[in-house]
Amino acid sequence: MESGCGKVEGGATVSNLAPLLERNKAFARSGVWRNTPSLPFLPFKGLYIITCIDPRTDPADFLGLDFGEAIVGRTVGGRVTDAVIRDLSYIGYLVETKAPEGPYFETAVIHHTDCGSRLLEDPELRHGFAERSGSDEEMLASLPATVPADTVREDVAKLIAAPQISARITVSGHVYDTATGLLATVAEPSAPSGRVLLACPV
Ligand SMILES: [Zn+2]
Repeated sequence: MESGCGKVEGGATVSNLAPLLERNKAFARSGVWRNTPSLPFLPFKGLYIITCIDPRTDPADFLGLDFGEAIVGRTVGGRVTDAVIRDLSYIGYLVETKAPEGPYFETAVIHHTDCGSRLLEDPELRHGFAERSGSDEEMLASLPATVPADTVREDVAKLIAAPQISARITVSGHVYDTATGLLATVAEPSAPSGRVLLACPV
């Protein structure tokens, strides 16, 4: 197995990324990057996927995403943070203003089993990290995806209730099972409540 550890030689750190530059050259040669959406914020599949930073939960792997098919935002636990809401509201605003005839977006929120966010269930670890990061301890206590089907429903509801999110964006919720590789839908796509969906040409 390849080591993922950077080595320090003569004061300089050997980059973990450097060996991957050969893969980048192969990518450039492939020409895949030429197949670009007409507007860069409109992915081919009309998806904005929010998932955990866990290396096992890359949707390019478990959903077989190809180049340009989805926007992917990753956070600890796949939790919907203020930063996620800001990014999603920006994309929605771009669609409304720059591509008024464009398609709807679906935001798929994905939480998963065996999530590292659950380590924050430990009060001692949580307290230590609150001190280190200056984060609010109560906020940290709400982060763990203890029951991912529940936390994903919470985050879907949070997005649907956020007034900044475009009415052109629907939201769905899913749980990825790290023991089977399977994704299960726990919340079908729904539109922000109280807002009227705009007509969408297919
Ligand atoms: Zn996780």
